[in-house]
Amino acid sequence: MAGDAAKNGHLLPDRVGPLMGETPLREPKGGVLYEPVFAGEMPTLPGWPVYRNLTLSTICHAPTVAFRWSLLYNPALMKKKDNTILIAELYTSLQGETRFVGLPSFFIRTAGCPLRCSWCDSPHAFSGGKRMTIREIVAQSLSGPEFVTVTGGEPLVQGAVPRLLSRLIEAKKSVLLETSGAFSIADLPPEIIVILDWKGQSSGEADRMLKDNLSRLRPHDELKFVIATEEDYRDARELLRSESLHRRCHVTFSWAFPPPDPHPLKPFPKEQRRISLAELAGRILEDRLPVRMIPQVHKFVWPEEGSGR
Ligand code: SF4
Repeated sequence: MAGDAAKNGHLLPDRVGPLMGETPLREPKGGVLYEPVFAGEMPTLPGWPVYRNLTLSTICHAPTVAFRWSLLYNPALMKKKDNTILIAELYTSLQGETRFVGLPSFFIRTAGCPLRCSWCDSPHAFSGGKRMTIREIVAQSLSGPEFVTVTGGEPLVQGAVPRLLSRLIEAKKSVLLETSGAFSIADLPPEIIVILDWKGQSSGEADRMLKDNLSRLRPHDELKFVIATEEDYRDARELLRSESLHRRCHVTFSWAFPPPDPHPLKPFPKEQRRISLAELAGRILEDRLPVRMIPQVHKFVWPEEGSGR
């Protein structure tokens, strides 16, 4: 993962300044996830704070995406062993996306995400959260449905998540992992079903997608293109065709619900044209794409919730 990032130039500060609505640096209220792992000062850039107490929350709120990324890929942090996970929420609901839409599922939403997608529906998971042991999390899942969905935030930002996935499999659960496409899926338990969210241009995070992940998808996994605009649709269609992705795994085109206006994270790209649900359906039929189209069903069932739930 660190190698991928370095090769792609992600360690360099390619964007400057805080994103809209972000505070430059916040200490976590819910306790420290990681004890300090560096004795000295963290690398920094002129005018930015010096990080002495590195936590998941401080990383996820570092002032720019590039700097956040350089902290996340620090090998000293990635190697840290910990059997606890910072959890944003645990709840039971219906699967609202993916090809498993409509199935009852126990949801494990982890806290923290270094991305800031323009239409993100779960910014409440960016900070805070409750620190729980893997044993506690698995115990709570036992009384729930057979399906367990591990989502975020970005679950793979926390090193103990692969161990949680293994324990859930041992507990005879059917496990879905929803991940952003920006973290390697190379070393995950083979029994889990990976739902890889592929972010298009409209997210503002398309350049974070790791292309190596596409070749790691297995027949029971799912590649989920999140589509909000014409540009997203065209890019997804070209990638699908050029890589014959539908022969590798399940492919879904997931229509992104319009974000609130103004969105608290960052503005929706004005130069792009939003695509409606009906337009997306029409384009898929017209282009004869071998994909499954899905809306975010839970947002039709519970529109007042307004979040990723
Ligand atoms: S949509 Fe997912 S990957 Fe993007 S910012 Fe929100 S939680 Fe992170």
